[in-house]
Amino acid sequence: MAITQTAISYYGLNYVEHAEQDFKEMIDHGCNTVILAITEFDMDFWFPSINKIVNKAKELGLKVILDPWGIGKFFGGEQVSLFLQNNINNRQVSALTGESLSFACFNTNSFRDYFQRICLKLARETDADGFFWDEPHYALPKSYASITGGSGEDWTCRCPICQGKFFDYYGYEMPKVMNDDVKQFRWREAMFILEDTSRKIKEIDSRFEITMCVHATLNSYYVTELRGYDNWDLVAASPYFDVFSTTIINWELPFDFFKHITQRTVEIAKKYNKPSERWIMNYYKQPSDFKMVDQVVDLYESLGVDRLAAWTYRGGYGTVLAAPDALKLWDRLGDNYRRVLGRK
Ligand SMILES: [Zn+2]
Repeated sequence: MAITQTAISYYGLNYVEHAEQDFKEMIDHGCNTVILAITEFDMDFWFPSINKIVNKAKELGLKVILDPWGIGKFFGGEQVSLFLQNNINNRQVSALTGESLSFACFNTNSFRDYFQRICLKLARETDADGFFWDEPHYALPKSYASITGGSGEDWTCRCPICQGKFFDYYGYEMPKVMNDDVKQFRWREAMFILEDTSRKIKEIDSRFEITMCVHATLNSYYVTELRGYDNWDLVAASPYFDVFSTTIINWELPFDFFKHITQRTVEIAKKYNKPSERWIMNYYKQPSDFKMVDQVVDLYESLGVDRLAAWTYRGGYGTVLAAPDALKLWDRLGDNYRRVLGRK
């Protein structure tokens, strides 16, 4: 199977006539899909422009996927969160210290409703082709696991809502030290918000395609990130997600790590008869030799990846997270996108 989709993310959804110029540049760079990173502020302030921008992209021939970027800091992303600004409750709580953190608890009805309202409004009022679940996660723990032991000791979420749900289900107080019940609880609750929202989006229009993108982590016998979506079988088996995607790998990591993650991504996607997607870092860092961009794209293609996606437009040019040679990196990505699609 050849690579059929070449996506680029894009933010700053302000003026349709400006977006139009950028979309043309994306098409010149071999992109056939745009992933619009939609912030809480965009929804609150720029909403009248969003569907105009969606329609302009489609008119130019791009597939359009909506990424509710960084909402409540549940998803990855640098954007600030109106939910956290406007709610002092419904936040994730550290199990060991009991402190509230600046991450919404996605197991509370308050945040679930807030998130779902955003997605369903987009589903009803735009003509996009799909949604992208972008690195959803619990605040803690993450990759400070060691090969000689488990992950870090602290974890989230032990807020009053999570504690109540845990007690109702297991019949004892939620422990402060993570055990197997806590692991299972975190996985199950984490799946609920995205499965329920995906189902309701598809009820509005079954053509909406849902891409589920999880962190590209080892999840081996020794090292597991435990951020809620690290059980790839559980995630990929869900009937509500159409595409299984794993996120960016830093260019500084060994080539074998790219290979390992990509093999596992393709294997899991195939197991559940779904297309696989691999991400490319097109911001912040760049390889010391740009040939590595070509090599990684070749690797992805040879291992049977169906779709490529890159973060972000113009290599992050103009932001604090621009790659050192942002526009050159963007051009190199474009060369590769055109190449894999068989375009000149
Ligand atoms: Zn909670």
